[in-house]
Amino acid sequence: MIIFGSRSAYIGSKMSTNAICSNCQTQGKIRYSVFSGHAHVFWIPVFPMGKTGVSECQHCKQTLRVREMPPQMQQECNAVKKEMKAPIWQFSGLFIIGALIVLAGFASKNDKKNEAEYLIKPLVGDIYDYKTNTDQYSTMKVAKITTDSVFVQLNDYEISRSSKIYKIDKEKNYADAIYGYSIDEIKSMYNERIIIDIDRD
Ligand SMILES: [Zn+2]
Repeated sequence: MIIFGSRSAYIGSKMSTNAICSNCQTQGKIRYSVFSGHAHVFWIPVFPMGKTGVSECQHCKQTLRVREMPPQMQQECNAVKKEMKAPIWQFSGLFIIGALIVLAGFASKNDKKNEAEYLIKPLVGDIYDYKTNTDQYSTMKVAKITTDSVFVQLNDYEISRSSKIYKIDKEKNYADAIYGYSIDEIKSMYNERIIIDIDRD
């Protein structure tokens, strides 16, 4: 299976008014065609990778690559190449990637907005992911709430990577003992990035 590679696409051509064919000596029958290469991933073009030029004599059909042309034709062909821009669709993949990044940004902003609300109005069952004072990660689960305090059960386990917290967030890992914090204390732990995430089902 081909995941990535490169291809060329024809982007345009132009007739030369004065070039003389090196094969049949006919003047004014040389046509320059320009191709733009692009890298593709899963057949979606991602970005252009440079242009190539080819000449074709409309009279004798001789075709030449730029490096095979006489110097004057090389110059003309390179000028034609310069005029022709890589088509916008060869950037498709970049647009798709850009759109995905913007969407991810929205999603994460929304997540933070929800957390701000969870912080002020905790619910029983909320899970706070936090950093321990030995730089490990663990969780606490909200077990009870009063007007100004939150009571939590602590997870008996810690893990070294924040991305793996979900592995220890299991019902049987929570100790029976409960500890109380004022909502203000929870807020300042969140602001100081001790509590790094709030999850609610
Ligand atoms: Zn010719």
